[in-house]
Amino acid sequence: MQKRNFKFSLEIFPPKKDSDIKTIYDTLDELKDLNPDFISVTYGALGSLNNNKTVKIASDIKNQYGIESVAHLTCVGLKKNDCDIILNELKNNNVKNILALRGDLVPGIELGDFKYANELVSYINEFGGFNVFGACYPEGHLEAASLDEDIYNLKNKVDCGVKSLITQLFFDNKHFYKFQKMALEKGITVPIEAGIMPITNKKQIEKMSNTCGASIPDSVQLLLDKYGDNPEQLREEGIKYAVEQIKDLINHGVYGIHLYTMNSPYIAKKIYEQIKHLM
Ligand code: FAD
Repeated sequence: MQKRNFKFSLEIFPPKKDSDIKTIYDTLDELKDLNPDFISVTYGALGSLNNNKTVKIASDIKNQYGIESVAHLTCVGLKKNDCDIILNELKNNNVKNILALRGDLVPGIELGDFKYANELVSYINEFGGFNVFGACYPEGHLEAASLDEDIYNLKNKVDCGVKSLITQLFFDNKHFYKFQKMALEKGITVPIEAGIMPITNKKQIEKMSNTCGASIPDSVQLLLDKYGDNPEQLREEGIKYAVEQIKDLINHGVYGIHLYTMNSPYIAKKIYEQIKHLM
């Protein structure tokens, strides 16, 4: 992998139905041309129980596509025994990176043997052999009383052995810059990759914003109001917005851009085409 001005990575999610598994490989066939530093694969995100597919897809990214992969793993329903099985499977398949998460809570499913992500981070590090990523929240996690409190907990998680952080999506870079400064002041010195989600669908963005606590600035609301009934135009405006956001982050020396692709190669490619000259 050549040395770049910033890291560039992608996130995909496994299809809900087993019968749709081929679609993710069609997506990967296109995403591989973007030459990402890694592709991460979600695990049971937003309450979907598709956990077994994460290991398989992360392994295939690494071994069939020759791209570094990051397998997400959450505490939801996770017992230490199951965790060991997953870690061994990842290790046997040469997957070296894990994003350790508390997880989106699933109604009716208990957390398991780990209550917070930091406990899972410690457990994976004791198991050994993995490079552990963690999640962070430029506007603060929804359950935290304040951004300060969330960063206090984040410092603890990093001290448990997180090597890099990936942020929750945000639409206003000022949240990222403020968060980065606060984190540094609290002694968090690991690299932070900025999570960017292109605005492509009005309902989806409003739902994401509600569930993950990312605020919608006036400039984005304007786009949603103006083009909400015109999906194609909204998608193009969303791509433009994401490109501008990314360029500004690069100008501010961001360590990495993590693109939430929503499994859309079209959008990821269009964004990549407009930022690749900056890499
Ligand atoms: P934690 O770091 O455990 O934090 C959760 C809350 O608890 C925070 O409010 C924090 O301040 C507080 N806290 C943390 N540690 C402690 C402690 N020791 N004592 C008291 N309070 C504490 N979800 C999925 O289900 N699957 C995915 O694949 C997935 N991928 C994601 C990828 C990224 C980049 C991000 C940003 C999020 C992702 N999520 C995913 C969502 C994530 O699981 C949720 O946001 C979840 O609510 C919090 O996870 P966490 O790992 O950040 O939790």
